[in-house]
Amino acid sequence: MGFEPTDAVRDILTRIDAFVDEELIPLEPRLLNEGFVALEPELEEKRQIVKERGLWAPWLSKDHGGMGLSLMDFAYISEALGRTPIGHYAFHSQAPDVGNMELLHMAGSDAQKERWLEPLARGEIRSCFAMTEPMHAGSNPVWMSTTARREGDDYVIDGRKWFTTAADGSAFTIVMAVTDPDAETHGRASQIIVPMDTPGVEIVRNISVMGHPGGGWASHSEVAFDGVRVPVDHRLGPEGSGFLLAQKRLGPGRIHHAMRWMGICKRAFDLMCRRAATREISPGKPLGSKQIVQAWIAESRAEIDAARLSVLSCAEQIDRHGAMGAKNEISLIKFFAAGVLQRVVDRALQVHGALGMTDDTPLAFWYREERAARLYDGPDEVHKISVAKRILRKYGSE
Ligand SMILES: Cc1cc2nc3c(=O)[nH]c(=O)nc-3n(C[C@H](O)[C@H](O)[C@H](O)COP(=O)(O)OP(=O)(O)OC[C@H]3O[C@@H](n4cnc5c(N)ncnc54)[C@H](O)[C@@H]3O)c2cc1C
Repeated sequence: MGFEPTDAVRDILTRIDAFVDEELIPLEPRLLNEGFVALEPELEEKRQIVKERGLWAPWLSKDHGGMGLSLMDFAYISEALGRTPIGHYAFHSQAPDVGNMELLHMAGSDAQKERWLEPLARGEIRSCFAMTEPMHAGSNPVWMSTTARREGDDYVIDGRKWFTTAADGSAFTIVMAVTDPDAETHGRASQIIVPMDTPGVEIVRNISVMGHPGGGWASHSEVAFDGVRVPVDHRLGPEGSGFLLAQKRLGPGRIHHAMRWMGICKRAFDLMCRRAATREISPGKPLGSKQIVQAWIAESRAEIDAARLSVLSCAEQIDRHGAMGAKNEISLIKFFAAGVLQRVVDRALQVHGALGMTDDTPLAFWYREERAARLYDGPDEVHKISVAKRILRKYGSE
C-alpha cells in the first residue's frame, strides 16, 4: 500500500517546505524562549505573506478564501506544517479554529456564517471550543453540568469549562450545554455560539500546563459562564444536535492532528539522526556508532512509516465515506500515531542529552506540549475500547 501526493500538491509542498525553512524555523528560538504572545506581531506578517502567495487555509473551501484541498491532499500539507510548532498557525490551519470553521460551515445559518465564519476564515478573529468541564470526566462527554435554559427568545447559560484552548483573545466560543435534561442521553446537549464579551463570561485563569500558563492562541483556559444570555438563534443546528455535531467536528480534525504529529516526527527524526552522526562520544566515534542509538533510529523509522501510512489510509477512507464511515480507522490512528509521536520525540531528546532538555531545539517543547496528544480528542483508552468492542462484536460478543 503506498500513497503519493498529486503533482499539484507536490508543487504546493515544495513552496510550503521552503516557507517553513526560510521564514518560520528562524522564528522558533523566540517562540521557545519568549512565548507565543511576544511572537504574534511577526507571525501576523508571515500570515499576510502566506495569503499573498495564495497558500492561505489550504483545507478551507475556495468560496471562503481557502485553497479547497481534499482531506487527503491536506494531510500532506499538515505534515509539512507540523515540522515547526508555528506552521499551522501561520497557514491558518490551527486548532481549534479549523474545527469551529468546519462546524459553522456544516451547521451554521446564513447569519451565523456572515457574522462568525467569514471574519474567522479571513483570520481577523480567533475562536475556541468549550466542552470539557473540571468536575466531570471529559472522556464521557454526555455527562456535563453546564446548562442553557430557555427564557423567551434567549438561552441563559450557567456552568464552568476548562482546557478551553485559545480562549484568551478569542472573539467567540462554541459552548456545549444541556438544553433538555429529559431528552435521551445523546440528545440532551446543543452547541451555542457565545461572544466572549457577553456579560457573565469570565476567563478565570490560563491553566499552567507543565509549568507554562501560555498566552493568546497558545493557552488553555478555565472559563466561567454565569447567567450568560444569548439569543436562541446563536444555537448551531437543531436543539439536541450537540453530540452529533461534536462527532462530525472531530473526524477530519483528527487527521489534521495526526499528520501534524507526523511532521513533528519527521523533524525530531531528522534532528536525532544529525545529532547521532555528528556528536562524538570519543574522538572519531559518533553516537550513531552505538547499536542502541542505531536501534532507536531503525525503530523510529519503522514506526513513523507505519503510522504515516495508516493516517493517509484513514484520510482516504474519510474522503470516500465521511467521518462516520471511518470510525474504526479514526480511533486506530488516534492512539497509534500519538504513541509513535511520544516515543520518537522521547528518543530524539535522549540522543541530544542535556541539550534535549533545553529550548535550543524544539524537542523539549514538543515533549511537553504533545504529551497531551494521548488525552485530547479522546484518551487512548477510550479509542482502544471502542475499536476492540467493534471487533469483538464480529465474534459474537455483546
Ligand atoms: C492540551 C489540551 C487541550 C485541550 N483542549 C480542549 C478544548 O479546546 N476544548 C475542550 O472542550 N476540551 C479540551 N481538552 C480536554 C480534553 O478533551 C479532555 O482532557 C479529554 O476529553 C479527557 O477528559 P478528562 O481530562 O476529563 O479525563 P477523564 O475523563 O477524567 O479521564 C482520565 C483518564 O482515565 C482514563 N479513562 C477515561 N475513560 C476511560 C474508560 N472508558 N476506560 C478506561 N480508561 C478510561 C484515561 O486514561 C484518561 O486519560 C483539552 C485537553 C488538553 C490536555
